[in-house]
Amino acid sequence: MPSSARPVRVRIAPSPTGDPHVGTAYIALFNYVFAKKQGGTFVLRIEDTDQSRARGDSEQMIYDALHWTGLSWDEGPDVGGPFGPYRQSERAQHYKDHVGILLAKGEAYRCFCTAERLAKVRIQQQAEKKNPGYDRHCRDADPAEGARRASEGEAHVVRMKVPLSGDIVVKDELRGPVTISSEQLDDQVLLKSDGLPTYHLANVVDDHLMEITHVIRAEEWISSTPKHVLLYQAFGWEPPLFFHMPLLRNSDKSKISKRKNPVSINYYRDIGILPQAMLNFLGLMGWSFGDDKEKFTLAEMIDAFAWEKVSLGGPVFNLEKLTWLNEKYIHDLDYSQLADTVMGWRLNKDYLVKVLPLVRERIKKLDELVPAIEYFFSGDLDYTAVLADMKVPDVAGKDVGKALLELVEKLEAKEGFAAPMIEEVSRQWVEATGWKSKNAFMLLRLAVTGRKASPPLFETMSVLGKEITRRRLRSAAELLGKAG
Ligand code: GLU
Repeated sequence: MPSSARPVRVRIAPSPTGDPHVGTAYIALFNYVFAKKQGGTFVLRIEDTDQSRARGDSEQMIYDALHWTGLSWDEGPDVGGPFGPYRQSERAQHYKDHVGILLAKGEAYRCFCTAERLAKVRIQQQAEKKNPGYDRHCRDADPAEGARRASEGEAHVVRMKVPLSGDIVVKDELRGPVTISSEQLDDQVLLKSDGLPTYHLANVVDDHLMEITHVIRAEEWISSTPKHVLLYQAFGWEPPLFFHMPLLRNSDKSKISKRKNPVSINYYRDIGILPQAMLNFLGLMGWSFGDDKEKFTLAEMIDAFAWEKVSLGGPVFNLEKLTWLNEKYIHDLDYSQLADTVMGWRLNKDYLVKVLPLVRERIKKLDELVPAIEYFFSGDLDYTAVLADMKVPDVAGKDVGKALLELVEKLEAKEGFAAPMIEEVSRQWVEATGWKSKNAFMLLRLAVTGRKASPPLFETMSVLGKEITRRRLRSAAELLGKAG
């Protein structure tokens, strides 16, 4: 049955490698809307086979962040379903079995080349100004011999036998067919020496086994699609239909990056963007409702949805636009709903019991509380009054800024945002800068609170949360970089 005639099943397949990305919510939205429009099923699959990049807290953050937006899925690791498991790390046997099928069909081969040999090949290719790639050394070796070496435990990978000539036609439903020559493709690794699959193999096997009919994903995966199409052919399977949504972009049109825009969904939650506004905004990325209508609900978007309304020019993730929409959503709320919304955000007991231990000793009367904790409730700070103090003796502003960004990177690489972790990372960072701790910590205090005196710094950062803290450190770094 052609994909278009089967019951619609779509999926998102995030890798749990960091904070929940706005791009994940964007792609989730289009999958969700399309599934709802078609009466189909929306699956969430966790692609966690790259153990070196996986982060323990990331999977739960993906669920939490997507739930916060208001999206939900019909099948997934957390909700189960008939096609599970939905976490790739629990599906290793499927990949092994399917690699076995390809080996038996002669569509794949074992490669015993060592890292040293591959490095030499690469150097040789560079010297000869040839395209880098595997030289197919093991491709024509006797498969029985390969099977024997493998059974003796010799380390190897399994590679796809990409046809040496011929064209591959990839049909993107939004762009039309693109033909590429298979000569441009490498004999892609399918199974790594640790027995785990690469993205390509796992993705194709799972999309097939989970009966996915429409692959709706970001444009950045388009270069992988020819390899996927070849894999479908090698297995003798019918491929799904492919839709590659245009990439979100910074205002300078570069691919959205945390250096230019906060990219974690949690940042937008923490600064008080309403989930409806966030979804509406993401719905405007690459898609237009029609009639210049910019404010619409999820239900309205489902109703009006059509692929013809997708435009491929890179949509700009424009914070002013998001704020503009958010304002409208706030103004739509009556005062009681607004009170509930604000309480659901940070003006609630859960948050106050984290903040109060940090400030109780600093207030004598309750009327001093709100001024004392103001920065626990704001997003960006105004540094004008403290800019002159934001410096490290004998260090140029731009170098101070650079160092602050290094601290941000170090904090980002860690799981969670507990005070002891922040303290450890910050102290190591101070040591590495060689600055006096007094100066370094004053700089951090000013960046994070906008004040010279504040409650214990690391606890304050922890309570403010990873998103707001990082954003303030980045803003301060940028300001100092500009100051020269
Ligand atoms: N694991 C990939 C990701 O992190 C999935 C891409 C796809 O949808 O095929 O986005």
